[in-house]
Parts: sequence; C-alpha cells; structure tokens
Amino acid sequence: MEMPMLDEKEYQIISEIWRQCGLAPKEWRLKHNLPLENLSFEERFRPMLNKYQELTEFEETNHIAILHHRLSIYGEPCENCRKPLRTPKANFCAACGKIPSKSSEN
Ligand SMILES: [Zn+2]
Repeated sequence: MEMPMLDEKEYQIISEIWRQCGLAPKEWRLKHNLPLENLSFEERFRPMLNKYQELTEFEETNHIAILHHRLSIYGEPCENCRKPLRTPKANFCAACGKIPSKSSEN
C-alpha cells in the first residue's frame, strides 16, 4: 500500500499543523478536541493525521511517515508510470526504468 505524496502547498499546510501539534498550547488542544491533560503522542498529532486524510483521503496513523511523503524530497512523477522518482536528480525511474527527458542537464 503506497501513501499519497504531498505537493509543496499541501506539505506547507501539514508542516504548519505539525509545528502547532509540537507546541500544543491549550487553545490548540481545545480547538481540536484534544485532552488537556496527559496528551498522548497519538492524540497530539491527530490533527495532522486528520488533515492528511482530508487532503489525500488516505488514512495514516504515523505522522512521521506523513512528513516523509513530501513530493519535493523525491523527484517529479515519472513521465511513463507516474510514480515519483527516488530523488529530484534520479536519472531513471526505479519502477519502470524510464529515463526522464530532462536528465540531460548537468
Ligand atoms: Zn516510471
């Protein structure tokens, strides 16, 4: 099962929520219906998981995994199979072997 990737705009939304979750002031917890006492790790980052699900319709339980699904840390989607290239500088697609046409730069 592959997780949907976030584009830069979505990632910005998610990372802002992530930052807020890390701070988790009282107002934030009230806004997101989180417990004020003994906030567990899962509860603390639940707003982020909720937002991710809202953006991608994919249910994820690990907020760290979400942070790793930023499109720009991988390359553009492959022209052939649409899977993201492993890195922005990948010279071929790991999934189908297609060589990106712009890799002639450098
Ligand atoms: Zn491909």
